[in-house]
Order: sequence, then C-alpha cells, then structure tokens
Amino acid sequence: MSKVTMDKIVNLCKNRGIIFQGSEIYGGMGNTWDYGPVGVEIKNNIKRAWWKRFVQEDPSTYGVDAAILMNPRVWDASGHTQNFADPKMDCKSCKQRFRADNLIEDHSKGTVSAEAMTNEEMESYINEHQVKCPHCGNFSWTPIRQFKLMFETSRGTLDGEKDVVYLRPETCQGEYVNFLNIQRSMRAKVPFAIAQIGKSFRNEITPGNFIFRTIEFEQMELQKFCRDTESMNIYEDYKEKAKQFLLDLGFSADNLKFHDHDKLAFYAKAACDIFYNFPMGWSELNGIHHRSTHDLSRHQEFSGKSMQYLDPITNEKYIPTVIEYSIGADRLMLAVLSEAYNEEELEGGDSRVVLKLHPAIAPYKVAILPLQKNINEKAIELYNQLSKKFMCMYDEAGSIGKRYRRQDEIGVPFSVTIDFDTLEDNTVTIRDRDTMEQIRIPLTDVEKYIEERIQF
Ligand code: ATP
Repeated sequence: MSKVTMDKIVNLCKNRGIIFQGSEIYGGMGNTWDYGPVGVEIKNNIKRAWWKRFVQEDPSTYGVDAAILMNPRVWDASGHTQNFADPKMDCKSCKQRFRADNLIEDHSKGTVSAEAMTNEEMESYINEHQVKCPHCGNFSWTPIRQFKLMFETSRGTLDGEKDVVYLRPETCQGEYVNFLNIQRSMRAKVPFAIAQIGKSFRNEITPGNFIFRTIEFEQMELQKFCRDTESMNIYEDYKEKAKQFLLDLGFSADNLKFHDHDKLAFYAKAACDIFYNFPMGWSELNGIHHRSTHDLSRHQEFSGKSMQYLDPITNEKYIPTVIEYSIGADRLMLAVLSEAYNEEELEGGDSRVVLKLHPAIAPYKVAILPLQKNINEKAIELYNQLSKKFMCMYDEAGSIGKRYRRQDEIGVPFSVTIDFDTLEDNTVTIRDRDTMEQIRIPLTDVEKYIEERIQF
C-alpha cells in the first residue's frame, strides 16, 4: 500500500463530492472549504458519534447551543480582545503570510515545538535552518509581527452608529456564560459538564494543509466543572476518554500520541494535546486542558455575577475548577479520511481506492444496486424501505464492478445487489466493503443485517 498524501485526499474529496474549495467559481477564498453531499454526511456522523459518546451516554453532561455573537465584554473577560494574536511573517517574494510557529513545526515535521519559543527564538530558528517559503521556495522573510485573530463585525443601531461585535473564536465561552443557567435549571451537581458543537472563527491566514486549519471551523468540546481536589483525576480521565473515542472510531494507536504542552498559561495546571500522524506530519488533533478557576473567576469579575457553587451537602461555596476537552470536527474529519484511505492491489492486476470508515460514520450505510435496469422494481422498494432508517445510495449505472469501486471510494460499508434470483426467491447478495466477500441473505433480513453493523 502506498502512503497517503494530502494531494490524494484532496483529489478524492473534490472528485467524489466530499469537500470542495470554498467559492471555487470565483477562484476560491483562502482557507475556506465547502462540504459536498458525501462530506456533509460523514461530518454529521462524526458529530453524532461524539455527541452520543460524551453527552448522550453521560448523565452528568448537558448540551447547549449558544449564540455565536456574544456581548463583547465576554471577550474582554476571556482575554481575547487583548491577547489573541499569532506571530506572522510575510514572504517578501510571493507576499504570502505564514505563522512562524507553523513554519518551524512543518519544517521539522513536528519534531520541534515552537510553542514555548519567543518571537526572537523563532526568528533565529528560521534563519539558522534557512526555512524556506512553502509557497514559492524562497528565503526572504519580514520580521515577525503579531496578527489579530478575531474577526470583527459591527451592529448598527442608528445610521452612522456602530458597535463592534466579534465572531466567536472559540465555543467554550458559551458554556461559561451559561454555567449558572444550566446549574440551576437542570439542578446539576458538581462535577458536571456542559458540551457544545458549534462554529468558531479565527483569522488564520496560514494557507495549505486543506481543512486542518481553516478560518471557519466547528469545535466539539465540553467544559467539566469540578472541585479542585478532584480536578487532576478528571483531567487524566478525559485524556483517556478522548483517546478511546479515537480508537473506537478505528484509529490505529500507532498514529496517536499524547503531547504535554511545553509552556502553560499562567493559570493552567496541566495541558495536553493528542497528536495525530497526519499526511503532513504529527500535529494537534485535540486538546485537554486544566484551566483552574480562571474562566469562571474572570466572568465573575467582569459580569459582577457570583459564579460560586453552593455544595448542597457540605454547604461550602466555591468557584469550580474547569477541565476542558476540545476537538475540531473538521480537523477530525481530515484525520478520519487520512486514516481510512487505502489503495489496494487486487487479483488480476486490478486496484482500488477504499475508504475504510467505521460504518457509523460512513456517508451511506448501503448501496442498492440492481444488476440490470429492467429488474429495478424490487431495488426501488428496498431503497424506499431502508432510506427511512439510514442514508442509502442507489446506483444502476455502469458495470457492477465499477459500481462497487465507486462505493468503496466513498466508504459505503455494504452493497446489496438485486439480480434475477431475487425475483425468484427474494434473496439478495450483500457485499462487505473491506473484505469484498459476498453472501446471500433474504431480502427481509437486509435492514437488520445493516442495523446491527452500523452502531457506535
Ligand atoms: P492550533 O495550535 O492548531 O492553532 P489551538 O491549540 O489554538 O490549535 P484550541 O484553541 O485548543 O486549538 O482549539 C481546540 C481544537 O479546535 C483544536 O485541537 C483543533 O482540533 C480545533 N481547531 C483550532 N483551530 C482550528 C482551525 N483554525 N481550523 C480547524 N480546527 C481548529
């Protein structure tokens, strides 16, 4: 099997309706991508799997869907209005702009972390190693400058009067500001978590690496509110849960590793990322952070509302500590595609591309393929029955071999063929994507057969 490259993934996505360049007919727009019919199904299934694991199956976690536009004071309290900026360098030859820390990490294939480096240290690394522009290949950099990451927009009330509002750069503030609401309305007892899946926006200008880093992306994350004395156990627990989620999705343990942060924020007690072995090298897939009482304390200070929790048993009042677990849905999508992509040599000199996706996140669960157009009645009936339960693909065009290959490329785990025997005995052939084995089962068993195999 040849190694998966980013080009192979991007091409497959473009040609098979998974992901397209944003605003493509206008020449595109940097770092924006549109999910096509196949991609939107995979991404929705990833989000569903995450929600099921971390919200549905955990009675102490409550979901929320907070507003993207928040009172600007939220961003003063969080520190974003003052500090949310990246170290950027411009290539003087091609005028492209890059993040200095990413240049170092990409150049060293993830073996050097620039996280704890000062701007001066990053500049000297780049000069010493003659790190070239990834776009034009020249070595001609401006000095590092700080580049603001929050998108600003405005809210007009009267003509000429406008108030600045921000597109949220992270979803978690929506949980912090709802801590009191959820604690009271759900009678939640600490430790409990608030979880959210939603869009965030960052003025990232580093091009390349497909959907790894985009200006508009979805985060799936939760904030667990707990007593400080139990916080380190909960932190360790989420590290394991985060990893187990990835293993259960089908990731190989060899492609995942924990990476403790080299430098902690002044308030943080611990911080760890899970790195994935992406086609471009090891990079952050998700983060687990011990944020102490910092977030709720800051909101207490800026809003004037007490964020204290009254322990109903001990009558003690305290501001809970926060453990955060956060993963990008789009970044996970890229990891999932990279992990699932396989090129296989088949008997007879043939070859195939197959996405070995976990059936729960496959875009369509089954492809219904009548052997010939003139026997499609039963196939249409089956499609109508199964599509009430899950996403199905119907394809009657081309040879059966070609149709199987098309399903393999987008990761459809099962294909059902309706043939002349079906008309006689009401049985069908069901083919497994990964093993390519085919078995014959009664038409009436198809729904159950698939349902048993697509659970997460
Ligand atoms: P990075 O160092 O890669 O910029 P970060 O440490 O700033 O990421 P967090 O703020 O902790 O990231 O966000 C949590 C998760 O959200 C990340 O682990 C990643 O999966 C995802 N994420 C963050 N920024 C982006 C982005 N620009 N595009 C896509 N996903 C992102």
